[in-house]
Amino acid sequence: MNGSENIKKIVIVGGGTAGWMTAAGLSHVFRANGIEIALVESDQIGTIGVGEATLPHLRFFNEHLGIDESEFMARTSATFKLGIEFRDWGRQGDAYIHPFGEYGREIRGIDFHHFWLKAHKASREGRIDSFSLPVVMGELAKFAMPSADPRSVMASYSYAYQLDAGLYAKFLREFAEARGVQRIEGKIVEVSVRPEGGVVDFVTLENDRKITGDLFIDCSGFRGLIIEQALKAGYEDWSQYLPCDRAVAVPCEMTAENVPYTRATAREAGWQWRIPLQHRVGNGYVFSSRFTDDERASDILMSSLEGAPLAEPKFIGFRAGKRRRQWVGNCVAIGLSSGFLEPLESTSIYLIQAGITALAELLPSRAMHEADIREFNRVMDLEYERVRDFLILHYHATERNDSPFWDYVRTMPIPESLAYKLELFRKTGVVVQYKDGLFLHPSWIAVYLGQRVVPDGYDPRVDALPDEQLYKALAEMKALIGQTVSGLPTHADFLRDYCPRPVADGVL
Ligand code: FAD
Repeated sequence: MNGSENIKKIVIVGGGTAGWMTAAGLSHVFRANGIEIALVESDQIGTIGVGEATLPHLRFFNEHLGIDESEFMARTSATFKLGIEFRDWGRQGDAYIHPFGEYGREIRGIDFHHFWLKAHKASREGRIDSFSLPVVMGELAKFAMPSADPRSVMASYSYAYQLDAGLYAKFLREFAEARGVQRIEGKIVEVSVRPEGGVVDFVTLENDRKITGDLFIDCSGFRGLIIEQALKAGYEDWSQYLPCDRAVAVPCEMTAENVPYTRATAREAGWQWRIPLQHRVGNGYVFSSRFTDDERASDILMSSLEGAPLAEPKFIGFRAGKRRRQWVGNCVAIGLSSGFLEPLESTSIYLIQAGITALAELLPSRAMHEADIREFNRVMDLEYERVRDFLILHYHATERNDSPFWDYVRTMPIPESLAYKLELFRKTGVVVQYKDGLFLHPSWIAVYLGQRVVPDGYDPRVDALPDEQLYKALAEMKALIGQTVSGLPTHADFLRDYCPRPVADGVL
């Protein structure tokens, strides 16, 4: 890129999690390039105010930005997250944790779960969960940092955070403003697109102020102020696969021991989240309006809270899918403006991060080369499709037949990209590998087995290991995990020592 082609000014539209993460990420990376960054947000409109469970990738985002972890956690009232517990998904009464970590260890280059399968089929082993350190830690409400030594069993897991979304945006705002991002308060009432289309020249605020830029990043939330309303990117609707289209959310007092995981409990027309922070619990029921209504959803949520509600329940509508093009002309959509897949696996903040990373790697010239645009859209499409298929698996791999909702998702046609993965695992125990994108082997294994998709066979190479050696190796692995976890501190104690939230902050 030659100097005159360089982007000089980026305008971020929206100051929710997406806007401020983008501002923090880009100001950190491009501070030295002299690129001016402005962020426009409207207090009058506000943010969506949910989005509190994350994936381990956020740690690396923070690390890259040089953010001190314990300060960040204290300031956002965060807790550690070792995975997600799924209750009542395969059948009512079932429970499993999808952990951020491995099951067992490969033996002779063969995936561990094939060995477990053999022993399980011979009734020599029960749950695969006992071979996952983060699952056992979660069940016993323990936490400690992973080890950097790859030989240690303490290196077999990762972790994420559960955090207060409002405090997180505030934290990132301070970070970005300290690195030169200019915040502009005001409601955008017009987006000026060149007559030939595709290129935004400026946005106009209610007070008539015009804000020009070379690149506009649309972080305006579901409304997609630029990407959809002005540039008509189009929306690919996936609600036939993911029929949940509403949520009701409410925080409540924390009454139980602070566990290091998010919980997703299946309900008659969707599922309910429980996200424990240091000082309160976030709750929400994600449901399909085709199968229930707001009043019943709210009753179910409010009657199942563990402590007193701390606010009025809030309803949010959405449609599963993604923009057909996430980058059009000189506008890139990041966050809810780019699409939304329900929060079952806490993937939205990850997708924000993926968008920021892809954009930073391609940072366009002012000419906006078509190759950059195509590459960004290709990468993000892949990310979205991978998440979509994994989410559909949770609904489709069920034996539940106790409500019209579960009948629908159990019997609905699924995308071919998922159907063949499911078929392969059912027949052979093989998990399809892919190079990029989210959800690697252990995640698929967790959901398959947790939801009763047990393969007919296992890798025949396993039989080369004599049975007694196999059972001994399994017993040793299990014992090592049990002993290791018993010596760890509780999650509550770890939080108290490492990142206590400031006492002066209230309950909300
Ligand atoms: P918003 O928060 O809606 O922000 C939009 C911004 O644009 C605001 O600042 C607004 O003021 C501004 N704006 C809009 N219009 C204008 C205008 N005309 N002029 C000026 N400014 C304007 N994600 C996770 O990773 N984990 C979760 O657990 C999770 N749970 C969720 C639960 C539910 C029910 C939903 C719906 C989402 C959940 N998400 C979750 C997604 C997560 O909430 C979002 O990805 C995240 O909050 C980012 O939102 P955003 O910044 O794109 O949009």
